[in-house]
Amino acid sequence: MINMRRTLYLIVVQLFLSVLVTSSATLSQTGNPNSSGISFTVSMSKPWTHLLEVEMSIKVAAGLNALNETDLVMPVWTPGSYLIREFERHVQDFAADANGRALDWTKINKNIWRVKTNGVRAWHVVYRVYANELSVRTSELNSDHAFWNNAALLMYPEGQIGASSILRIVPASGWKIATGLPPVVGEKNTFRAENFDILYDSPVEVSNFKEFDFQVRGVPHRIVIDGEGNYDPVRLRNEVQKIVAAEVSMFGEIPYHDYTFILHLRSNTGGGLEHLNSTALGFRRFGFLNDEGYRRFDSLVAHEFFHLWNVKRIRPDALGPFDYTKENYTRSLWVAEGITEYYANVITRRAGLTSDTAYLEHFAQQIQDLQEMPGRHEISAEEASFDAWIKLYRPDENSVNSQISYYDKGELLGMLLDLQIRTRTNNVKSLDDVMRSLYTEFYQKGRNYTPEDFQRVCELIAGANLEQFFSRYVRGRDELTLIYNQVFIGAGLRLQQAGIEIGMGSSGSVVPQKAFLGADVEQTADRLMITHVRAGTPAYEQGLNANDQIVALDGMRITKETFAQRIAEKKPGDVIHVTVFRFDDLRTFDIRLGMHIDAPYRIVPMPNASEEQQRIYRGWLGIS
Ligand SMILES: [Zn+2]
Repeated sequence: MINMRRTLYLIVVQLFLSVLVTSSATLSQTGNPNSSGISFTVSMSKPWTHLLEVEMSIKVAAGLNALNETDLVMPVWTPGSYLIREFERHVQDFAADANGRALDWTKINKNIWRVKTNGVRAWHVVYRVYANELSVRTSELNSDHAFWNNAALLMYPEGQIGASSILRIVPASGWKIATGLPPVVGEKNTFRAENFDILYDSPVEVSNFKEFDFQVRGVPHRIVIDGEGNYDPVRLRNEVQKIVAAEVSMFGEIPYHDYTFILHLRSNTGGGLEHLNSTALGFRRFGFLNDEGYRRFDSLVAHEFFHLWNVKRIRPDALGPFDYTKENYTRSLWVAEGITEYYANVITRRAGLTSDTAYLEHFAQQIQDLQEMPGRHEISAEEASFDAWIKLYRPDENSVNSQISYYDKGELLGMLLDLQIRTRTNNVKSLDDVMRSLYTEFYQKGRNYTPEDFQRVCELIAGANLEQFFSRYVRGRDELTLIYNQVFIGAGLRLQQAGIEIGMGSSGSVVPQKAFLGADVEQTADRLMITHVRAGTPAYEQGLNANDQIVALDGMRITKETFAQRIAEKKPGDVIHVTVFRFDDLRTFDIRLGMHIDAPYRIVPMPNASEEQQRIYRGWLGIS
């Protein structure tokens, strides 16, 4: 087996020789002092074992000193997904040799292999990587397909992140390849990466996928779909094309040669990960049942596609060049993710893929969800961004009380900024101008932006000092309910609950009330479990815990449905008796129910909105 792969390797090296020479020449033109010829071959001879086989060859470029030892580093995370995933834990069967002579090696820490290269100018390593976790940021190989992120598979030589490399893929029989990497002309199944950031930014799908193509402004886009589903291919392609066209027209140019959407359809999957000229998406295979299903899909596509500008090119301070060996901290994920989510939804509205009423309902729900998170008092949008690695990506039963999502609050902050800028400039400028300015003034000038830069650009476009807004609502933890209606009035809108304006005090009208407990429950088989207890609620203050198993309410058996119904029949101030198993002990708690306003948040148009207010509303939502 190993010998057969070595033979293959020798053929591969011969095939690559001309490519490597070309590649080195290109590098020396760009003046990279560390350039070497690096190539990878990824094979999958037994897909059902979930083992991807990697051969890496390194050739020291002429004029450079051959080292006595070289460290090969496996990334511990992949950009866009802010969690240390320890990809190195899936590496096995590592070996190194030069011309068939084994080289000694040792691990010097969890993710670095030190190879005693003893001054040789050409050497290579082989290893295998176990890949059995399908998500947009991990890898999976099985008898149906292969999908991987190169950061989870390929090592880089220490100090050579800037080096170019060649990736050759040997697919299983009958499978084809999709990746955003450019192919090497004349070399089958072979791709080129100008540096390791590009290599790690380019996921690969190898399978018998379906493909749907379209062009925007003459630039080719393809949707690659692995897995069956109930989508209409024509509708899916048309809607993706509309999203691409809308976002391209906002930024005014296309900064890539081609774009690949890799979509996995499974019974229970979701999410996306952004890249420079591709994205990996997961979606429920039967999720295209109705318009709402397509709206969710469109929003996912619009989010990941928007990232090709916001975060992949318009980059916050710490996000590129990346350190692949540890956490990369930034306070601006609320911009990178939250404002991207804002555009994901507002662009689908502007592209005509959802109605303005549905859009306002979505926003009202987002507002309500944030108001039900006690964690909003504990952490600001900037703090949540900074702690993504230990909070958003590592949720537990206390998360509702200790954190907020910088996606959700960031989306609301994006909307508040957009409407403020439109109101202050009579709809001449908008958050679109902020994004375009960041693109031209930072990305195109080779700079990343800081939190201070972002505020300054917003102020420049708005023509106003926004220090109060940023200090209270972005860096601070002030309630957004204090400001919604001050901002909404610019677009002739009001935020209300039960007809009462939010943040404006009581209007004296009678508020419909309902009894309120404050524990979230989930039914698992015949067990009704408490999943979260929200801080400050009757459940929290009077003793219930997450992971309590509720066995009875007022002495009677209940399910998730009957539990909610029985609470709804109560009045605020009523006492209920909740019997739970806590660990192994049966206990009963007497809990006095609290009060909730019995109505959802709604964003409603003002009856007598002025022409100016209506113009801002129409401009905001793209209504002609
Ligand atoms: Zn995102």
